[in-house]
Amino acid sequence: MSRFEGIYLDHNATTPAKPGVRDSMLEMLGFPGNVSSIHKAGREARRRIEESRKSIAKLVNAGPRDVIVFTSGATEANNMVLKGAGMERLIVSAIEHPSVLQAAPEAEIIPVLENGVIDLQALDRMLEGNTRQTLLSVMTVNNETGVIQPVEEVVKLARKHSVLVHTDAVQAAGRLALDVQASGVDFMTLSAHKMGGPQGMGCLVIANCAVVQPLLRGGNQEKNLRAGTENLAAIAGFGAAAELADIEDMPRLQALRDRLEAELSAKAPTLKIFGKDALRVANTSMFCLPGATSEMQLIALDLAGICVSNGSACSSGTVKPSHVLKAMGASEDEAASSLRISLGWDTTEEDVEAFIEKWSEMYDRIKNRLSAA
Ligand code: PMP
Repeated sequence: MSRFEGIYLDHNATTPAKPGVRDSMLEMLGFPGNVSSIHKAGREARRRIEESRKSIAKLVNAGPRDVIVFTSGATEANNMVLKGAGMERLIVSAIEHPSVLQAAPEAEIIPVLENGVIDLQALDRMLEGNTRQTLLSVMTVNNETGVIQPVEEVVKLARKHSVLVHTDAVQAAGRLALDVQASGVDFMTLSAHKMGGPQGMGCLVIANCAVVQPLLRGGNQEKNLRAGTENLAAIAGFGAAAELADIEDMPRLQALRDRLEAELSAKAPTLKIFGKDALRVANTSMFCLPGATSEMQLIALDLAGICVSNGSACSSGTVKPSHVLKAMGASEDEAASSLRISLGWDTTEEDVEAFIEKWSEMYDRIKNRLSAA
């Protein structure tokens, strides 16, 4: 089995599949059943799919009446809810993933504070006197900064105005305790490949008997909500990833992340960590080193065998500054010199030490130029 040889600190872009996930996927790849067939193989395939659905329901504490629709990933689930909820008014936060922002180009935008948390007072004002059928979309955790959003407060405000709430919980699953029932959200999006599962697999959780129209029409799979033969192996892998999700590993990752931030800050006085005074998930750090472009830092680290990101993977390869950092009020220079480190289940202390060492070597090479700038 091929294993990546470098140091991979880009788990918010994608996580390597856990060994248990690979095992359950391989088992189902060799299995002949189509969930829609009524013969024994089909029934067994159906059983495996329903098992995965139960594992995911358990991970997010979805109730017995809540519906989990398997999709090709979070992009599809986000598109499904924003396009299919049939709302007169859509309101989304400024820091959502492009799969929310671009699925609803007509949406009104909730601003964020400098620390990366959405502005609840601004949202309250936006909802004042609202009489239209409205859906709010606020992510649980931002993929670039790791900042945790006040979703339960959003639900409280929404309820006052009979407004529905969707949360993209892609970067929270397996890292924070999620509770569909207690939080009161109407829709939740998950993606398997951010939690040790396979790429190209996700789901939309539909709670509170909320209604959404299918995006893909055809066969009557997934209770008529998503046509197309179910991706049996990927669904089995998603279920295994939900079973293997390990929030108890977060204190270990937080200690590594905090050490990384402390050592870099001690070395580079101009380093700025985004969202540092807000609540963040344990695995993520986004910071900038004004004067040193993200590309230059990425290339130096890549040559040293270390994979990190300059923000969201979807905008990597373009020089467009991050819309998240811009919404937080970062300057062009700050946004253009940012780097995101995201740790995960296979990250070791040695990986983080290697990052600190290589980043420090790079810093020593350029620091004279930085102070002269
Ligand atoms: N939402 C968030 C917050 C994400 O980080 C991502 C992946 N970058 C997505 C949605 C899209 O997920 P997928 O790759 O499963 O379509």
